[in-house]
Amino acid sequence: MSSPRPARTLKSPDDLIAAGLVAPWRRGELAAVAARYAIALTPAVARLIEKGDPADPIARQYVPDARELIHDPGEDPDPIGDALKSPVRGVVRRYRDRALVKLVSVCAVYCRFCFRREMVGPGAGALSETDFAAALDYIRARPEIWEVVLTGGDPLALSARRLAETTRALAAIPHVKVLRWHTRLPVAAPERVTKAMTEALTRGHDKTVFVALHANHPRELTQPARAACRRLIDGGVAMVSQSVLLRGVNDDADTLEALMRAFVETRVKPYYLHHGDLAPGTAHLRTSIAEGQALMAELRRRLSGLALPTYSLDIPGAHGKVPIGPAYIARRPDGGYDVADPEGIARRYEDRVAKDETRR
Ligand code: SF4
Repeated sequence: MSSPRPARTLKSPDDLIAAGLVAPWRRGELAAVAARYAIALTPAVARLIEKGDPADPIARQYVPDARELIHDPGEDPDPIGDALKSPVRGVVRRYRDRALVKLVSVCAVYCRFCFRREMVGPGAGALSETDFAAALDYIRARPEIWEVVLTGGDPLALSARRLAETTRALAAIPHVKVLRWHTRLPVAAPERVTKAMTEALTRGHDKTVFVALHANHPRELTQPARAACRRLIDGGVAMVSQSVLLRGVNDDADTLEALMRAFVETRVKPYYLHHGDLAPGTAHLRTSIAEGQALMAELRRRLSGLALPTYSLDIPGAHGKVPIGPAYIARRPDGGYDVADPEGIARRYEDRVAKDETRR
């Protein structure tokens, strides 16, 4: 059974022990992790944890673990190379037509696998007015920037007033056509996704607004979380999903299938299934790429294209994000192709292109 809802966000080992989510003998271990990485479990998230289950997939995402202090030499405090692609403070530019703006460094919850775990936490604050003005100048001066991704931390942690100001400023740039907000808030604190928030994102401009919802387990798509998405969507926001493939959380086909179906039923299009980034102390939560590819092949057998995310890897060193399979097509020595059908059986295919047709 899930526990009664705690009244406030749990932020320390003592809070977790008092809520019955961690045994008292683990206090020292958790304190060592808490000294390095932030802890926050909102009431909505804490309530989802099955107290008696040591392998609970929700606890695994949010409750600290001593293994977070074991750092693999291949891990990196900046695993996707934000700093290498930051032309001005708070802005990351990896692709020609997009810019990321990191508005805040705080979140409603802190995920144990966070790829920005060395940068986020309480007290890390928000982009200053001066820095935001510089970010606007940077975007304004580059007409090729078509989409602005608002991220952090969790940018929806800002007040409706700040969200409206940010939206107004970005929407006033004529070449910016799409505003995309990355958030966990509908899952972490659905009650904070209000009509006022939706209006702050959508009112007074004609830009396209996307919200990318981060959730990793179907149990996170509670009725209040779905209602929060409904408020956003009915208010004019389009939604996509982001999930991270995590060992012991969603690294089985049944869980991933249920998660993707839950997204679609909530009118959230499955977008990315991220391979776990090389963030420090997260090896115990990562899978191998081969495991991820096998899971994607199984999902393709089970799900319509509407419910299939793209399995992707953010290449370390700021080299960008790419789909990582599985591959369904291979060139044959005779110039044709072997194409694997959803059951994995190779089917031969040859291009049939009119030889005298010239490309116009
Ligand atoms: S909500 Fe996002 S930014 Fe915040 S801790 Fe989780 S993964 Fe990191």
